[in-house]
Amino acid sequence: MTDSPRKRIVVKVGSALIAPHKQGCSSHYLLGIAQFITYCRIQGIQVVLVSSGSVAAGWHHFEGQAQPSVTVKKAMAAAGQADMMATWNKLFDFPTAQLLLTHGDLRNRERYISIRDTIFSLLEHGLMPIINENDAVTADKLKVGDNDNLSAMVAAAADADTLVICSDVDGLYDQNPHEHPNAKLIKQVTEINADIYAMAGGASSDVGTGGMRTKIQAAEKAISHGIETFIINGFNADSFSQLLKGQNPGTLFTPYEKPMQEHLHWMTHTSQAQGEVIVEDDFDLALDQHSEQLTSDDVVEVKGDFSVGDTILVRKGDGTKLAKAKSNYSSCLLSFITEQDDQAFASEFQQKTGPIISDKNIAILKSI
Ligand code: GLU
Repeated sequence: MTDSPRKRIVVKVGSALIAPHKQGCSSHYLLGIAQFITYCRIQGIQVVLVSSGSVAAGWHHFEGQAQPSVTVKKAMAAAGQADMMATWNKLFDFPTAQLLLTHGDLRNRERYISIRDTIFSLLEHGLMPIINENDAVTADKLKVGDNDNLSAMVAAAADADTLVICSDVDGLYDQNPHEHPNAKLIKQVTEINADIYAMAGGASSDVGTGGMRTKIQAAEKAISHGIETFIINGFNADSFSQLLKGQNPGTLFTPYEKPMQEHLHWMTHTSQAQGEVIVEDDFDLALDQHSEQLTSDDVVEVKGDFSVGDTILVRKGDGTKLAKAKSNYSSCLLSFITEQDDQAFASEFQQKTGPIISDKNIAILKSI
């Protein structure tokens, strides 16, 4: 990245690069990555590493586990995380720091801000954060679940300008390259739409092109925050040399020219709705309109248990997601007004109490 305008990059490395045969960690594929990171730092580019691999690295301590239970996997993660950090630390001559996060941490605005502060402080003092999901403690409900999406959330939290996601293929192909030898590599993506998701393995499939679907989700999160995103082949050391030369070794996803505002990005891509407000099928929520338009008249049903200030999902009965928004009402109060037969009372109540959703805190969702 000669004379690179980049200031801060997030590199996401997957389990297969760290513990390729589930026989403990190997530095075989990590050397090129570590060299790349070191060159970036020499050029003054700050690096945050999102590293998977704790489960794969800890696997060999648990004999006879072809299909380990969730509990055993958590134990594997606890054992492997330390090995993984030790392996990375052998490759760097600068200090690193470990951050283990859950989605429960990232979707809580206060903890999210605290995570941001910690990352900034580490970077300011020359340490490289190495981040993974805290697999040893997370139950399903609290999990991000994959480190591709985690890396994009981290990139947004760290205000990175570049996200590099390592894959086992050269980038996004128009069809699965493992099955179609003539598959073509897509060098650049300017808009992530249904066609792009289809190339990644189909909207309903979770076994995409080399886990490509979660990588596209991550790219979507990142570019909407203004973060240039690359999917590259992490097994090929040449990918990193090309990146250093300012070339594109894989697929480049160009960032939005106008990134989403930080808090709306967090609401859309990191927070999780605590409940739902189901609205009439003909109701539409447009970006340029005001939130006052959502009144209890439009609400058909209130689902879940949420408090004032929680993120909620506004959707139609047919399932279409319209927006994520910060609720100014608790689910209890909203259900109470919605169920009122006396419309005059309900409308007077809302006039006094204020809009159901906050004007500045509505993230309109596009449906893919
Ligand atoms: N956090 C998991 C691990 O360290 C990996 C998740 C993923 O592969 O995306 O094993």
